[in-house]
Amino acid sequence: MLVLTCPCCGATAEETELAPGGEAHIARVGPGADASAFEAYLFHRKNPRGVHFERWRHAHGCGKWFHAARNTVTLEVYGTYPAQTPEPPRELLEKIAAKVPGFDPEART
Ligand SMILES: [Zn+2]
Repeated sequence: MLVLTCPCCGATAEETELAPGGEAHIARVGPGADASAFEAYLFHRKNPRGVHFERWRHAHGCGKWFHAARNTVTLEVYGTYPAQTPEPPRELLEKIAAKVPGFDPEART
């Protein structure tokens, strides 16, 4: 079972207490963007095998959104951080790079 620590209230919550929100750090398109850019914003997701940055909501707790970095194969959780963070924290990326061979923190976008 997936267990995440909510960075907003500090509670450790099981997956049943959380609501998934999909991929994190999706850049919104502006009002002048063309249809293909808007389609990519709405529908194109990475769905990687390995390290993934996701949005989660502590639905049965404080109700706040946050981000989590985890491995989709092993379910190992590398860390969580507030949803207001525009990019994963540098120390989290370095922690993942030390654990996952081939993970390049600079190439994750
Ligand atoms: Zn919480």
